[in-house]
Amino acid sequence: MPQTPSSLLRQIPQVGAMLSTSTGKAMAEDYSPGLLAEVLGQVLAELREGLQAGLGSVPAEEELFAQCQKRLQAMFALSKPALINASGVLLHTNLGRAPLAKLAARAAYEAGINYTPLEYDLAAGNRGDRQMQVEQLAARLLACDSALVVNNNAAAVLLMLTAIAKEKEVVVSRGELVEIGGSFRVPEVMIQSGCTLREVGATNKTRAADYQQTIGENTAALLKVHTSNYKVIGFTQAVEIPELVQVAHQAGLPLLADLGSGALLPLSQYGLPDEPGPKEALAQGADIVCFSGDKLLGGPQAGILAGDKALIDRMKKHPLMRALRPDKMTLAALEASLMLYQDPQLARQQIPLYQMLGTSIDVLHQRAMALKDSLSSYAQFSFEVVPSQAQLGGGSAPGETIPSIALSIKSDIISVQTLAAKLRLGEMPVVARIQQDAVLLDLRCVMEDQLTKLTQTVKDALDTEGV
Ligand SMILES: *Cc1c(COP(=O)(O)O)cnc(C)c1O
Repeated sequence: MPQTPSSLLRQIPQVGAMLSTSTGKAMAEDYSPGLLAEVLGQVLAELREGLQAGLGSVPAEEELFAQCQKRLQAMFALSKPALINASGVLLHTNLGRAPLAKLAARAAYEAGINYTPLEYDLAAGNRGDRQMQVEQLAARLLACDSALVVNNNAAAVLLMLTAIAKEKEVVVSRGELVEIGGSFRVPEVMIQSGCTLREVGATNKTRAADYQQTIGENTAALLKVHTSNYKVIGFTQAVEIPELVQVAHQAGLPLLADLGSGALLPLSQYGLPDEPGPKEALAQGADIVCFSGDKLLGGPQAGILAGDKALIDRMKKHPLMRALRPDKMTLAALEASLMLYQDPQLARQQIPLYQMLGTSIDVLHQRAMALKDSLSSYAQFSFEVVPSQAQLGGGSAPGETIPSIALSIKSDIISVQTLAAKLRLGEMPVVARIQQDAVLLDLRCVMEDQLTKLTQTVKDALDTEGV
């Protein structure tokens, strides 16, 4: 006679009884009795619902424990902390911009797992300054009086304008009303900081006289914004920092410069146009410069303000500073990254961004050939080593490309979208580029120690096609 549902329901074990079995006790030690009881409760409740709906039967206890194990493992699985960037975009904002130098990552790790003298003066044994070290280092590297670190460059611009120009006017060229990645727009940041934007010139042309005519009683500063992610070409004119400094200083005003990336090394040796450097801008007379920590500096997300001590002190003391200040791990990673720049050669060797920019085409070609050779057994795919164009990204050097090499993968049995998705969902995710009917693995931003894992992910993705 078939069992009635109610007799089936009575076969469902009790949570308490399962917890006191040897398997239950062992699992409770790995997780905790409370968490195990909660997950067991869920599994049993779902089983009960299924049985009431006439589905399935009561599995053995081991099977129920196995289901719990799976759920607990999923609860404790870290989200993917790393991936391989085969997109060819070096400072990909969606992929976390610049990877840190190992020294910087180690510094962040040590700061993270330990107490640190974050706001403690070890010599005096009392309260110290959170940023003193990193500020002194930045000021030395940039040959200026003072520096300050905040959460990112958007925060730096907000703090700078609020502390210096609240309820006053700031003059900016119409050609420089930049939007960075959707939510950061110069005019909107100005509104947030409580100052009034005075636009001058036209989109394509602004002259020194345009600034001069607009400066009035209520003007607090002139602002220069690096047009980091677009280019105005053709009939154009802009006032560069040296001339703008003269205009500002004649009127007794400070010149503020949002440099965006703030490269500390020249890019020309990598075949790219040089970005405005903070040291150069300060030497040309800019009173305050600000720039990102995780663009061309190759450090952690941060905003660095540098220049005149009196102005920096105003920002330091501003109540907003408390909301914008960086944490101990960021400060440790930034300090370590800046330390490397004391020797440009060291920075080029140790900072991944410059390692990747500096890898020769020959080396990239060899790596692509090795990858291709290791895939030769996948006969249903065709592989070709092709020239490619990488980009800096992250709002740096717009429109400029960097020569690179890619492995192109084509197939008749699987769409490029499907293959790209399989690569993204690999054990070590790989973000590739789709170009027409091929998936391109651009090797410019694949780090040398990632090549084995790249090969493995590609093999796994091709394997799941049943070839
Ligand atoms: C990137 C950029 C910003 C924003 O910097 P974050 O560090 O991303 O906050 C601001 N201004 C300019 C000119 C930029 O290029």
